[in-house]
Amino acid sequence: MHIAVIGAGVVGVTTAYALAERGHEVTVIERLDAAGMETSRANAGQRSYGYVYPWASPAMIKKALPWLLQQDAPLKMRLPPTPDTLRFLVATWRFAQTPGLFDINKRAMLRLGSYSRQCFQALEDELSLDFDSGHRGLMELASDAKTAKQLQVNAGLLNELGIEYESLDAEATLEREPALTEHGPLVGSLWLPGDGTGDCYRFTQALARTCEARGVHFQYGAQVVDSIRDKGHIRALRLKPCADDQAVPERIDADAFVLCAGTQSRRLGELFGARLPIYPVKGYSLTAPLLDAERAPRSTVIDDRYKVVATRLGSRLRATGFVELADMDRRIPGSRLATIRRAIESRFPGAADFEAAESWTGFRPMTPDGPPVIGEGKRNNLYLNTGHGTFGWTLSAASAQLIAQLIDGETPAVPLEPFRPGRFGR
Ligand SMILES: Cc1cc2nc3c(=O)[nH]c(=O)nc-3n(C[C@H](O)[C@H](O)[C@H](O)COP(=O)(O)OP(=O)(O)OC[C@H]3O[C@@H](n4cnc5c(N)ncnc54)[C@H](O)[C@@H]3O)c2cc1C
Repeated sequence: MHIAVIGAGVVGVTTAYALAERGHEVTVIERLDAAGMETSRANAGQRSYGYVYPWASPAMIKKALPWLLQQDAPLKMRLPPTPDTLRFLVATWRFAQTPGLFDINKRAMLRLGSYSRQCFQALEDELSLDFDSGHRGLMELASDAKTAKQLQVNAGLLNELGIEYESLDAEATLEREPALTEHGPLVGSLWLPGDGTGDCYRFTQALARTCEARGVHFQYGAQVVDSIRDKGHIRALRLKPCADDQAVPERIDADAFVLCAGTQSRRLGELFGARLPIYPVKGYSLTAPLLDAERAPRSTVIDDRYKVVATRLGSRLRATGFVELADMDRRIPGSRLATIRRAIESRFPGAADFEAAESWTGFRPMTPDGPPVIGEGKRNNLYLNTGHGTFGWTLSAASAQLIAQLIDGETPAVPLEPFRPGRFGR
């Protein structure tokens, strides 16, 4: 079968790889000049298989309002909110109020996370890709007794699902991450030894090169602008060059199509009759060279006070933070970066040279309930693999395999009901 994949972020490229491995002819269409240049470019680098959760939760709604009023809080919203922001907030609120939904979605996402760990393992065993990959776990800090208690509650579900974890007191936390010593309030932590790290951009680029070597065609600089349909079927995609001097075919015909367009999936979904209320939730990162490896985290550490994440990526430190509702505003205010830097330096002083840091902003392709969209669309040869929100790097290996299984008519390895595209209406 010839399959066209729209989007060469981490989700599109892992999908292309999974399909090519099964012998399909694959074409990837990407509007930018290279793979991994949008949201997959400089995220927090966590492959947090045991730390995936839906965003629409009753607890989040309770925290949101006070956060919006605090200077250094992790949640921000541009005022006045746009109609898109308001629609997204109302939809999130509705999902958060649906009895039992958060628990169902959290379990489903954790099962998907566990499957993704297996899929990444298989992929890393098969290919030797260079992307600063690490398998040294994930640590979520508790700086006060209330947070420590909440971490214990979360651990109950990990126990039930057989996900390995350890609840650590302050002393044991410092043994695991010695660079934390003496800095900042610390009551304990939740430690997930099975989680990993890695540079998502370098992975996406390396896997795209592997795909090309195996015959996948990448059509860069081409924007999908429309589809050519015949009854319930999509026959082809219409393309437009992104630069005047770029030569791209006017259309690409294929037998099946997979939408992996991240934050642009809402607009493209409309072309295909799929309702995908995906909203771009903004975040920021700083990537700095290490000054002293002994003072840096060994793996990935989430500071509960600011929800800032510090991740070791080889000889660099990636510091990430903020959940901001500002549509696609690409500006990077110095105040946001200053908060991230202050949070990291209070836990890991002297670890990295932030004067030489690269700053970045990106947009999480977020569904209003939280789980990604994985499944078949309304047109019978359209598949959707998008809306991965905060966890697209972590879940990409699993969702790619699931789409390949669906296309080949197999029973998916993970039940897809919580991820079904039709859950937002048609
Ligand atoms: C600050 C921040 C921190 C994060 N940290 C983590 C983390 O630690 N762990 C984790 O798992 N996830 C993390 N994420 C989330 C993760 O980065 C995303 O979920 C993931 O990158 C989404 O990948 P994608 O391939 O769906 O989207 P993208 O990487 O955005 O790729 C979509 C591609 O589609 C292309 N496209 C769009 N429209 C068209 C069109 N019409 N025609 C052709 N091409 C098109 C785009 O150009 C783009 O390249 C973070 C995100 C942010 C913002």
